[in-house]
Amino acid sequence: MKLATLRHRDETFVASVDTNAGTAQPININGNRVSDMLELIDHMVAGHDVAHEQAIALSDATVIAPIPRPRRNVMCVGKNYYEHAHEFTKSGFDSSASSASDAVPKAPIIFTKMPESVVGPDTLIGFPDNQCEQLDYEAELGVIIGKPGQGISTENAMDHVFGYVVINDLTARDLQAKHKQWFLGKSFETSCPMGPWLVTADEVDGSDLQVQCWVNGELRQNASTRDLIFDIPTLINTLSKGIELRPGDVIATGTPVGVGIGFTPPKFLKSGDKVEIEITGLGRLTNTIR
Ligand code: MG
Repeated sequence: MKLATLRHRDETFVASVDTNAGTAQPININGNRVSDMLELIDHMVAGHDVAHEQAIALSDATVIAPIPRPRRNVMCVGKNYYEHAHEFTKSGFDSSASSASDAVPKAPIIFTKMPESVVGPDTLIGFPDNQCEQLDYEAELGVIIGKPGQGISTENAMDHVFGYVVINDLTARDLQAKHKQWFLGKSFETSCPMGPWLVTADEVDGSDLQVQCWVNGELRQNASTRDLIFDIPTLINTLSKGIELRPGDVIATGTPVGVGIGFTPPKFLKSGDKVEIEITGLGRLTNTIR
């Protein structure tokens, strides 16, 4: 299922989307229309029956982020594709590696983005008041957790995946480099565009999806999740060792080669730029720099 959070006639609700028909059917549980994706995930993890109401035209609704406000920080993975790890270290912005020989991490690098950083498709994004001169895009596969767990083995990890979503790990490179820790450069408001919908895990194979990103129509990133250094089971195993993963948690799995700082000279985002990210089966996320 493709599950979207929609605004329609002053109401916000969750609906399953039929992209071919251009329609959406509001989700109903026990006679109540579900207004919140996190509530739906809780119900589905508990095995409750999901009913579909009569379809509406998708074009009559506004698609917002599938999880507009996660309960906890979005967990993110740094330098998780080989070629990107090398381009990042070579760029001089990487405070996590002192030389080319430690460009590729030996264990996953994890940071987080505040829940308030999440925005939906077709919204304006960028550092507040444009106080950033080195804004960069990062196209990423987002993993949504369903069944909770701590100490999850790699063998059982995929049982905990509820679905997938497209994420842009928007980054202020100047702040990322200046403050060493990545939080300030990656967690500002609007730094986590997400959408257009969440696709349940039965519909796509997260281990083999093409991740593509265009800026003003120019293809910048084009790689498969097959090339992840640390795959999804390894990330779930790593994160869950000391932290209980909970329904609705979001893990951004890292970005492939082709970010703005990978070019010489760097290609930073500027006001009016259109960033489009598409992942096989997950749809296209489009945002414009304010
Ligand atoms: Mg990233």
